[in-house]
Amino acid sequence: ARARFVAANPASRAAHEEAARHLPGGNTRTTLFYTPFPLTMTRAVGSRLTDLDGHTYVDLLGDYTAGLYGHSNPMIRKAVEHALDGGWNLGAHGTDEARLAAVLCERVPSLELVRFTNSGTEANLLALATATTHTGRGTILVFTGAYHGSVLSFGDSGFPLNVPHRFVVAEYNDIAETAAVIDRHAGDLAAILVEPMLGSGGCLPADPAFLAYLRDRADETGALLVFDEVMTSRMAGGGMQELLGITPDMTTLGKYTGGGMSFGAFGGRADVMARYDPRRPGHVAHAGTFNNNVLSMAAGYVGLTELFPPSAARELFERGERLRADLNAIAAGRPMVWTGMGSMLTVHFGPGPVVSPRDLRPAPEDRELFHLEMLASGFHLARRGMIALSLEITDEDCAAFCDAVSGFLSHWNV
Ligand code: PMP
Repeated sequence: ARARFVAANPASRAAHEEAARHLPGGNTRTTLFYTPFPLTMTRAVGSRLTDLDGHTYVDLLGDYTAGLYGHSNPMIRKAVEHALDGGWNLGAHGTDEARLAAVLCERVPSLELVRFTNSGTEANLLALATATTHTGRGTILVFTGAYHGSVLSFGDSGFPLNVPHRFVVAEYNDIAETAAVIDRHAGDLAAILVEPMLGSGGCLPADPAFLAYLRDRADETGALLVFDEVMTSRMAGGGMQELLGITPDMTTLGKYTGGGMSFGAFGGRADVMARYDPRRPGHVAHAGTFNNNVLSMAAGYVGLTELFPPSAARELFERGERLRADLNAIAAGRPMVWTGMGSMLTVHFGPGPVVSPRDLRPAPEDRELFHLEMLASGFHLARRGMIALSLEITDEDCAAFCDAVSGFLSHWNV
């Protein structure tokens, strides 16, 4: 598979080698790297990506959920062009930020007030800063397998770049272990930060009882419960919290919510967020030159209102559920398991079941083989086996992908 990939992609290979002269690894976003070298894409329309060597792929990765709207969506383009016409560095209040805030607060149950940032990482950093300021405490509970941003990564213990908060880590989906950790730190707990489904940790949904337990313990200890819905907000118009019927104190957003432009948001209870109100004595400043950049504000608003109303969220969720069921039916009896929820899926190699980070196996050779074979069949997904359906992916695309996976399984020697 490697030799075939190398032979098929000489232009991508040359581009990678040239780029690596000035960028470590040839890129500036580590998750996009894979062996033997990543493809360089040059054009993207709808659900299709085209690379430097002229191959076209069905884009199942959907930029790790940021690409919800597919590529070059004409309505988003129109919104951005309209925004550009009005100027893009206003250095002043604009109109789109208020509209975007209103639609988010209307839809997402926990959001009474919201503020914008440039990335999901920043949104989480600010949520944690908010929680420590609000509670006057310093400890933050996070979970194994969690990814909350480039300096908030708990997939491998002791990630050297993490911001130096006082983090304590408990096992995701394990109420007994979490109970012990909370008991030990209850008096100093500022926040419990959790993804309602681990995204980059392998598309492992939280047990609703686990999240309900976190809600109870946050209430009891006075810690703020923060849902990182940077990826999962696509599960329903009001995010995964709406599906679950569990409302956190704060929520962070990012990815597609800015219409495919740089974006992050943090918000929640009015009494917590009101400290950012500069009309109030003793308010806290939240700066950021591009927090209200007009392109993200305009694209985000049009995306949510025109392209992703709650009915579209339901439809996308159902398409993803069908795809995951079909893939698991195809893989039945083989050491391949598809986890996830709605439009987010990840493949795992091994016997299963896979419900917590403890159950994960690295399986690097299987992952590489599967990934390269899917590329050869015309499907672009993450090396780690993640899929995030965009609104442009059709049932026909899903059926064709299922055929490709069947083909893989028919000659996979395990
Ligand atoms: N939280 C989650 C759950 C994420 O998946 C990500 C990005 N993959 C982030 C936060 C960070 O967002 P960003 O990359 O925009 O900083």
